[in-house]
Amino acid sequence: MPSSAASDYVGRFAPSPTGPLHAGSLVAALASWLDAQAHGGQWLVRIEDVDTPRCIPGAAEIILQQLALCGLHSDGPVLRQSERAAHYQAALDALIAQGLAYPCGCSRKEIEAAQSQQPARHSAAVYPGTCRPSPYGLGLQGKAPRAWRLNIQAVRDLHHLPAVTPWMDAQLGPQQQNVAQDVGDFVLLRADGLWAYQLAVVVDDALQGVTHVVRGADLCDNTARQMVLQKALGLPRPQYLHTPLVLADDGEKLSKQNGAQALDLSHPLRALNAAAVHLGLPAQTGSVQEALSQWTALWSTNESTH
Ligand code: GLU
Repeated sequence: MPSSAASDYVGRFAPSPTGPLHAGSLVAALASWLDAQAHGGQWLVRIEDVDTPRCIPGAAEIILQQLALCGLHSDGPVLRQSERAAHYQAALDALIAQGLAYPCGCSRKEIEAAQSQQPARHSAAVYPGTCRPSPYGLGLQGKAPRAWRLNIQAVRDLHHLPAVTPWMDAQLGPQQQNVAQDVGDFVLLRADGLWAYQLAVVVDDALQGVTHVVRGADLCDNTARQMVLQKALGLPRPQYLHTPLVLADDGEKLSKQNGAQALDLSHPLRALNAAAVHLGLPAQTGSVQEALSQWTALWSTNESTH
């Protein structure tokens, strides 16, 4: 059962408004809400609209209406990342001041050309470190800065971090990633002037006091990067739980991008039941409120398994 200290718990659901909620995003919403309820905690909704070209006007309002129909209401004001640039800039400035972020002048073509020279163990997605400043590299060498990147080696040196970032996922068990090798110096501020998801999510999770991140397993791969960034910024590390993905009929991950159908919320309990069953919880009859309380009780009982 949740302990009495559990009221420190702050969870969140952080949808990108690239379309209405689909079956997969409702699973993440429900799981994060249930985990917060089971711990007697708060549940916050944050609209992650930093990647403006991918956002669809009005989608945020639709998502909030869909959540409301499902009985899921944010316990605090709904933050929108598009209004929080000053916080992201302050974080980037702090990293720059410590020599942990550097400007990159490489175009996509130049990065691809440099990657083709690299040993095969580097995946195509790894930035080769061309613009890393001294003593880690040669710097911009006269190129105009385009994006800002995290200097992972500098973070590791400053904070005495091992190459591999290990963590315990509450659903998936032990996880680890060598961020420098598998991802490389990732982007914090994009060449198009937009804030990168990694920076925005880490800053907001910390500023909102989020203690538990419950989200879809498709985002698991970002976790080690976010942990390195938390270290670099001196921010606490929340606990992570990644929920099983809902797959489309063709076995592909269900996403707004592959045309996942918007949820039919003419019968909210039907949609919630599908999400709950996916989480290993039994379908309910009765009202949405009754179903949510039943699932909360079951989630609390099974807490050790989450
Ligand atoms: N905004 C992200 C998405 O909708 C989720 C980010 C997160 O939960 O960390 O895919």
